Amino acid sequence: MKNIRIAIIALAAIIMASCAPEKKEPHPQNVIYLIGDGMGFGAVTSLLLTEDSLTGFEKAPVIGLSETQSANSHVTDSPAGGTALACGTRVKNGVVGIHPVDSTHLTSILEKAKTWGKKTGIVVNTTLTEATPAAFYANVEKRSMGFEIARQFTESDVDVAIGAGLSAFINRPDSLDLTATLIEKGYDVYLNWKSVLNTTSEKYVGILSMGDVHRRNKPTTIKPGAAAGDEVCLAAKLAADAADEADTTIFSEPHLYLEKATAKALTALEKNAPNGFLLMIESAIIDGYGHNNDSEGMIEEMQEFDRTLQMLIEYVNSHPSTLLVVTADHETGGTGIGYKSHAVGEKAPVSLTFSTKGHTGTVVPIFAYGEGAEKFSGVMKNTDLPAKIEALIK
Ligand SMILES: [Zn+2]
Repeated sequence: MKNIRIAIIALAAIIMASCAPEKKEPHPQNVIYLIGDGMGFGAVTSLLLTEDSLTGFEKAPVIGLSETQSANSHVTDSPAGGTALACGTRVKNGVVGIHPVDSTHLTSILEKAKTWGKKTGIVVNTTLTEATPAAFYANVEKRSMGFEIARQFTESDVDVAIGAGLSAFINRPDSLDLTATLIEKGYDVYLNWKSVLNTTSEKYVGILSMGDVHRRNKPTTIKPGAAAGDEVCLAAKLAADAADEADTTIFSEPHLYLEKATAKALTALEKNAPNGFLLMIESAIIDGYGHNNDSEGMIEEMQEFDRTLQMLIEYVNSHPSTLLVVTADHETGGTGIGYKSHAVGEKAPVSLTFSTKGHTGTVVPIFAYGEGAEKFSGVMKNTDLPAKIEALIK
């Protein structure tokens, strides 16, 4: 009798446990990490004041704050800020991915994602070897070591990368043609925007002209160096093909580059990705307008950023197992909406005021969307972001 009673109690406990609401920890398949270089509160505010319709920032269900200092300064630069967001460790200003005490090479969340079976991508509107993207795949003592950063890029195994900066790959002191190295490693390499837009490849590098990726830059002519001696190097041949296919779309609608390149990378990354993907996107030139104290330029930049963000929010909404994290590596310009300089009137243009030509150490905003977004609420260190992403996707 006693045994029967125990069996009934045990059975009841099992039934109750199975009926209790299941508390499921978020575990997103895909992560999209959108970084606005130098995008502080002034930059975000300038967009909110300029736009009549709802911006992507206002659609964020979760908002946090990130403290951006580096290992040796309250005011970080992009190499240290990028490393904190990529590797979860504060390094000294100027350094990319190398520990400040024991000099070990740090591993980024992008590299880790690769080892967990995810596809990975990088999209930037600057050179692929600039400090912020470099922090996701390179380890160098100085951001200026572009040739070494490019060499390390060829070893990164990133599936899709779109940005600028061909000269670090071909006009090299070691005479290597790294576009050939990439092709040997199984990449398709494209040196013009049209080829990137038309490709169905799932493993490619688009190394475009600076004029392709940002309206501020004049279109540059690709001039491969005498890298391969008297022979015309591979990049020269690719560049010649590019000239034949010259496409002016990007010059007539330059503000669409970041959005279009991001959408293009997403289509390649989501194919044949049973374990999902991690895509890092950097809008790099918000920082440049901050350094130049250029209010109009910064607002235009924020409008391009918002178009990309709105597209990504739609992507997250239609792909529920996706986490989108948006933040900045630091603030640039000490931006604000100063009382005296601000025009009055219902449709007065917004004018930012600046307090410095450099970076500042103020906290920057975090906006999070999709599965696991709630983990990014509150005040945190810049280094917490990759740690939180890792805890969610590992
Ligand atoms: Zn800067």
